[in-house]
Amino acid sequence: MTLYTNAYLWINDAWTAQPAALLVDNGIITDILYHNLPTNVASINLYGAYCYPGFTDTHTHSFEGGLYSLGVDLSVVRTIPELLALLGANKHNSADTLFAWQLDEAQLAEKRFPTIAELDSVINLRPLVLRRIDGHSCMLNTAARALVPGLTTKDEILRGTENDHAVHYFHKQIQPDTILQAYQAAAKIALQGGFTGIHTMIGDADNSIGHYSLIRDNLSKFPISYTIYPQSFNLKAALDAGASRIGGCILADGSIGSMTAALNSPYENSDSRGVLYQSDQFWADFITQAAKHKFQVAVHCIGDRAIKQINDVYKSLDSTPLLRHQLIHCELTDNTLIEEIYASGAVPVMQPNFDLLWGGDEGFYARKLGGQRSRIMNRFASLMNHSIRVCGGSDWYITALNAPMSIIAAMNHHNPAERLTHAQAIAIYTKNAAWLSHEENSRGAIKPGCQADFTIVNQPLDNFGTQPIIQKVICKGVIRYEQV
Ligand SMILES: [Zn+2]
Ligand SMILES: [Zn+2]
Repeated sequence: MTLYTNAYLWINDAWTAQPAALLVDNGIITDILYHNLPTNVASINLYGAYCYPGFTDTHTHSFEGGLYSLGVDLSVVRTIPELLALLGANKHNSADTLFAWQLDEAQLAEKRFPTIAELDSVINLRPLVLRRIDGHSCMLNTAARALVPGLTTKDEILRGTENDHAVHYFHKQIQPDTILQAYQAAAKIALQGGFTGIHTMIGDADNSIGHYSLIRDNLSKFPISYTIYPQSFNLKAALDAGASRIGGCILADGSIGSMTAALNSPYENSDSRGVLYQSDQFWADFITQAAKHKFQVAVHCIGDRAIKQINDVYKSLDSTPLLRHQLIHCELTDNTLIEEIYASGAVPVMQPNFDLLWGGDEGFYARKLGGQRSRIMNRFASLMNHSIRVCGGSDWYITALNAPMSIIAAMNHHNPAERLTHAQAIAIYTKNAAWLSHEENSRGAIKPGCQADFTIVNQPLDNFGTQPIIQKVICKGVIRYEQV
């Protein structure tokens, strides 16, 4: 038994009036005490800090995030020569494929991708996979291109199915030890970001569930709670693996950046309305079949046309409120679509960081969609105030895995009408997240009987004056991260 003393506790959407103590036994909260503290128990003083229920990020790509954290992060480079120098510094580190990620050509002075010849000039023997920030396009050096079977395009930048094919080819070559290492690296980053749990997708978003069974069999070895999804259309493989949910970023459409998100009206200065990757019939068949097997379904849908396509299927099924099917991203929603999401009982799993990074009247979304449409994106408050249960995620590795950053982003949406209150922003990472995984009785709240998961910060997250500091992250009663 452990007694954590002297912290303000976030209970029922508010702080306790005075500091209290948490009695934890065997990973479970057994009591909340205000006085007459037991003296025969090991005790840890939290010195008046603020204790939230442990935060859960409900949408990550942790394998890629963990794996790439062992590779090269390109988010810091601002010119092509800088990019090449950073890659060149890694050319001899290993015989394995080098993964570089977070390339955003719009951030580079040259406003373009590097060429293959430039990549080869700094790293020619070791295979190199370089991914764009949104994951929807990539580049390979010549050594890597030679390895991918069936890659016939002459295009230097791989997009759409060629991007997926190439990336999954390289991911499939990775050995179990390295896979587990990637998930351990991801868990460590999650803890540093204030999370006690993360949902993560495993599989190629096509026919394979990848290393799902490997992670399923090793869940107890990780310091945080992983909630895993076979990210695949292969219902049989998911059933055989004993999964209760399926999907993630299985794609109804693409991304705003690649102009492949499916819209009702065209992109700004373009005739294109983006792409629906599958027919209505395809989704009706897949989702109906999945629901028949009691799977919770999650589908990536960004544009209004794609969200409606998926939500229409959810709406046609009586089981949606029960199984809690998910609309991943759910970015562009007018008021009519919000009504329809309410009617279907689906759960939007959304990313506050997207608005932080790309929202705003002068932002990336406004340039792609026009100012008017950019204001009906990522409508956190409109959805929640419509009694729709929204959950929060980072889509990490796409954006940072950092709870205070995401929570504060949700409270500071560029459109004041879409800002969440402090309590709502906390809810999407705590009780709503627990509800999403059907664990509302055992996680996501500070109350006796719940898993002892806590995120402890030096100040409430609605104090925007100073940067919050994560002091401790406690998972199942054990301190897994401590501020150094
Ligand atoms: Zn995703
Ligand atoms: Zn996605």
